[in-house]
Amino acid sequence: MNDNFSDTGNFELPTLDMETRKLLRETQNETDDNGDRIRKLEDKLANLSLVTEALWSLLNKRTKLTNEDLAASIHEVVHARKTREETKLTCVKCRMQNSINHKKCMYCGGELVGHTEKSLFNF
Ligand SMILES: [Zn+2]
Repeated sequence: MNDNFSDTGNFELPTLDMETRKLLRETQNETDDNGDRIRKLEDKLANLSLVTEALWSLLNKRTKLTNEDLAASIHEVVHARKTREETKLTCVKCRMQNSINHKKCMYCGGELVGHTEKSLFNF
């Protein structure tokens, strides 16, 4: 029989020492904070999605741009992002490859060389 169940069959928390209870409380607080942050991010994302759709609707009605134009543009952006993500810069000191988003080598702090053309959307 499981020690965590009382005679009535109800689940009971085992007796925990002070340190474990403190850790449990802190972990619960962090979990609650993360839940709040996720909810806020979901709200922002939903709002951003709504604004994006409204902007596209407006653009679609007031210009000659079509859904096909939008789809083609999305495809271009996906390709451009992939290309940017694959671009690596080489450290002059340790020769390690670094993401284009780094200003200095993430391994040794050395200078990076290579293709450095950055997109406005790399941040
Ligand atoms: Zn380096």
